[in-house]
Amino acid sequence: MFDPNAQLDSSQVNDERGGGGGGFGGGFGRGGIAIGGGAGTIVLLVLSLLLGFNPLSSINSGNGAVATAPAGAPGSGNIAQNCRTGADANNSTDCRVVGTVNSVQKYWSDEFAQRGARYQLTPTTLFTGQTQTGCGPATTDVGPFYCPNDKTVYIDLGFFDELQSKFGAQGGPFAQEYVIAHEYGHHVQDLQGGILNRAAADRSGPQSASVRTELQADCYAGVWANHATQTGYLVQLTDANIADGLNAAASVGDDRIQKEFQGHVNPESWTHGSSAQRQQWFSTGYKSGNMNACDTFKGTI
Ligand SMILES: [Zn+2]
Repeated sequence: MFDPNAQLDSSQVNDERGGGGGGFGGGFGRGGIAIGGGAGTIVLLVLSLLLGFNPLSSINSGNGAVATAPAGAPGSGNIAQNCRTGADANNSTDCRVVGTVNSVQKYWSDEFAQRGARYQLTPTTLFTGQTQTGCGPATTDVGPFYCPNDKTVYIDLGFFDELQSKFGAQGGPFAQEYVIAHEYGHHVQDLQGGILNRAAADRSGPQSASVRTELQADCYAGVWANHATQTGYLVQLTDANIADGLNAAASVGDDRIQKEFQGHVNPESWTHGSSAQRQQWFSTGYKSGNMNACDTFKGTI
């Protein structure tokens, strides 16, 4: 639960919903990378909550331009107007996203400062249907993701319904907060340097760098949860909240998704780790409250 009097900073969330999706054509794929044209081939990496590094699209414009929402797009003013306080965050999903982004980034800003480093604030962009990103065009099918090229978290809030209806999570506000915190975990990894490149070079398998990267993002989400009430935004995290987070983490485990949608489990194609692993690493972060406990690259996982 958010402190009803907390002041939200809606500038950390871009609302592109209702903006028409920009002026690019079809050809959307599912999930992961786009191979850009132009001078040389550039592998662009997208870190989704649940999908692997599948080709996003090969229809890059080649000039690196990223479409932005038209000025005055419907919805773009609503977040600023509607999401002012923690009370708003307790009452609406839009504002809960704003409050969670604020809290997560407050925690990491403080944590980086304590370590003598500087955390770079980065936005979340809300979209519906499709959007243009620094990693190429993306559709809702990708699920929530982080694009390192423009250092932005993208989410279609319809995913929160899918988390329950398609992936069988029990839902709850903290399930949503876990999703946001996981994506910001990738931003932290991006700022740490090197980690995302390892993931891009070793994309699947039970011991792959991809799985280790994803489990570390789950762990970082747990680290934030441990400190969430110290950020000035959340006043209470109950055991039921944490259970919702663990349940959401399990619902997007590779084994669970494969069993549900393919009928069989194939660890060699895992990109995110099993349900048990995702729960375990969220818990490790939550119980320790220390990102040093999130070394998923050590030993066998
Ligand atoms: Zn991820």
